[in-house]
Amino acid sequence: MNRRSFLLGSGLTTAGLISSGWGESAKAEAAPISDFGISAPPDDENPRSCRPEDPLAALMDGNKRFVAAWRQKDKATTMAARAEAMAGLWQHDCFLSADVLSTGQAPWAGILSCADSRVSPEWVFDAAPSDLFVVRSAGNTAFDDAIASMEFTVSALNTPLIMVMGHSACGAVNAARNDAPLTPLLEQLVTPIRSSLTPGEDLEAAVKGNARYTAQQLSQRSTVLAEAVNKRQLKIVASYFDIHSGTVTLL
Ligand SMILES: [Zn+2]
Repeated sequence: MNRRSFLLGSGLTTAGLISSGWGESAKAEAAPISDFGISAPPDDENPRSCRPEDPLAALMDGNKRFVAAWRQKDKATTMAARAEAMAGLWQHDCFLSADVLSTGQAPWAGILSCADSRVSPEWVFDAAPSDLFVVRSAGNTAFDDAIASMEFTVSALNTPLIMVMGHSACGAVNAARNDAPLTPLLEQLVTPIRSSLTPGEDLEAAVKGNARYTAQQLSQRSTVLAEAVNKRQLKIVASYFDIHSGTVTLL
């Protein structure tokens, strides 16, 4: 599929991409997108897609399955009991084979989450390969490469949902609230988090505020994403993952 058909297939115009900052100087960088060769055809022609009718409901349903298994797992006292508790996961109606996956991907949700080792989106949402397009960094901020990655999945893969997910006990957000010395790069990382903070709030409120702020930043800083939202091709939401309960709550 060439670049033109990729653009038309995505429902986004060349003008839209150029106006979003993919201008003359960025064209050389934009070109490789079509070279990925993984543009998603319409769902009814796409054997690589397990896209649900309501992606947000599917995410939350997946989290309910995870929470149920997670709570049972803590009660298990043997390996066999633990395996039984977790057996409810990965029971998908649509689970693509390696043969199909090797031909491409059709993720139905983009997730921007923290890099925290306890916050794996595929795990938290009981998702399978090709379901989620995931970008992670400490503090789940809207850094440039994260926005560009989301532009890619929305434009080239027709992903209809982006969720920004903060989480309890986030070390990056906590660092942003404190004055402890950081390396120059860590200081750069927490700077956007500091922009989202409100004086006097606790860590949980700060995490939630940062997730909402990041979600706003995605469409404010990307014309591609803003246009997709305006055309109702894309929904952007913020959420909060509680590590103890395993529950994801929409903000
Ligand atoms: Zn974190």
